[in-house]
Amino acid sequence: MEKTKNEIQIGLCGKDGNPFANTENWHKKCDCTPEIVAETYEGKALSWSNGREWGEIHHPQLGKVMTYWKEGTPCYSTYTSPIVDVDGCIVTYKFDQDEGCWEEGSIDLGYYNGIDTCKFGY
Ligand SMILES: [Zn+2]
Repeated sequence: MEKTKNEIQIGLCGKDGNPFANTENWHKKCDCTPEIVAETYEGKALSWSNGREWGEIHHPQLGKVMTYWKEGTPCYSTYTSPIVDVDGCIVTYKFDQDEGCWEEGSIDLGYYNGIDTCKFGY
C-alpha cells in the first residue's frame, strides 16, 4: 500500500509578498489572493547539485540515509539529502565526522521553490 503524501503548496502572500506554506497557521487568516509558486509534499527528497556521496549513516528518525559533502572541500561533516518538511521548508541534517555523531536539530535551507536541487554554500 502506498503511503499517502501530505501535499504542500508554497505561496506568496498577495499583501506583503512573503512566502508561506498552506500547512502553516500564520497565513490562514489572511484574506489576500496568494500566488502559488510551488507544489510539493512532506518528505520529498531533493538532491545536491555540488555534493559527493560519502556513504550511508543511520539517523535516529530517518533510518539509514545517504550523506553528502561539498565537492572539492575537505570532508569534516556530511549532510543528508535536502528534505521538504511539514511546513514546506527544506531541511538537511548534519553528521559531524570528527565527533562521529549527528548534530541536534536540522538546518533550514528556506522554502521549497519548485527547484529540486540545492547547492552547498558552506
Ligand atoms: Zn496573504
